Amino acid sequence: MKPITIKSIKLYPIAMSLVETLKTSSGDEPFKTGVVVRLEADNGITGWGEASPEIAPGYNYETVGTALHIMSEFLVPVLLGETIESATEVPALFSRVRGHHMAKYSLEAAVWDALAKTNEMSLMQAFAAHLPKEHQPRGYANVGVSIGIKPSVEETLQVIEKRLGQGYGRIKLKIEPGWDVELARGVRKVYPDIVMMLDANSAYTLADTEHLKQLDEFNLLMIEQPLGHDDIYEHSKLQPQLNTPICLDESILSANDLRLALDLGACRILNLKPARVGGYTESLEIYKICAEQKLPLWIGGLMETGIGRSANLAFASLPAVTLPCDISATDRYYDPDLTEPPFVLGANSRISAPTAPGIGVEVQRDRLEAAAQRWTAEGVYKNYF
Ligand code: MG
Repeated sequence: MKPITIKSIKLYPIAMSLVETLKTSSGDEPFKTGVVVRLEADNGITGWGEASPEIAPGYNYETVGTALHIMSEFLVPVLLGETIESATEVPALFSRVRGHHMAKYSLEAAVWDALAKTNEMSLMQAFAAHLPKEHQPRGYANVGVSIGIKPSVEETLQVIEKRLGQGYGRIKLKIEPGWDVELARGVRKVYPDIVMMLDANSAYTLADTEHLKQLDEFNLLMIEQPLGHDDIYEHSKLQPQLNTPICLDESILSANDLRLALDLGACRILNLKPARVGGYTESLEIYKICAEQKLPLWIGGLMETGIGRSANLAFASLPAVTLPCDISATDRYYDPDLTEPPFVLGANSRISAPTAPGIGVEVQRDRLEAAAQRWTAEGVYKNYF
């Protein structure tokens, strides 16, 4: 592998309008926010990465402000001037900074992109190069769609009909207490056979066990993160009482967390968000555990723009990612996106992973500048918290 030496890094805080906002049990966000990383190597190659913190510390403690602070003061200085042969070297360089996984992820992703471009590899090839030979990428990800909390079952059914019509093969519904059993029953009445799952975004407690047991009758693919956002232990108490597999999301921040969860029997499925675990290096460790233990795995999303979406699609094309991923087509989120061409849903609920070097899509600089100006102009912090 040809190495790169990192010459400069520029950070762009962004605010993007969404085609449709996604209401979850933790609320509604007016914009998609994030920080885009542009990394220049001394060979003239540009690498791109993207962090997906929200405006406020609601999903986790990271915000656009903390990501900018941690990156510009602590992480970027460590990278500048560094010669790197493999992006898997990056986590060790960041080891003096605890936490802040989204910030670390975005910089590591930019290094993956620049190195893959330097070596004329697609990101899916770059990831597969760190795995045993049998893990050759499929070239596409199996995907599904996530539907937020709607005012009524009827409105939810209308959205499901639309998404099924578009070709999505797996439907995920966001739930919260008071919007769960009746919703599932209402949907199953009309669609007894669709592949369906629920995501609670940690809205329940162990005291809700009897209530959650009622969901077993709806033949769900899984229920995602029903208990605490940082909990593994209580999920291990709940899982044996449910027939429905529990999928952990928010509380798995590392390969070690996953080992603990598996030892305790806290989940039967994993939702891996590379940003949540601090990058693709840690994601590859988690991937290997899932492959060894035959734990069903899928890749989640944080409403990434095309920059993060393309990298996640590349990862999702690896063969031990066995379940449909939350990586929908571009038109579901942005019009226009920051990158071209857009990702489109193909036959059999698949999206192709880019084959061109690196992220394999072109960042549109004028749109990036506009998204950065919007972050500044809207005073997003002041107005939306
Ligand atoms: Mg989730």
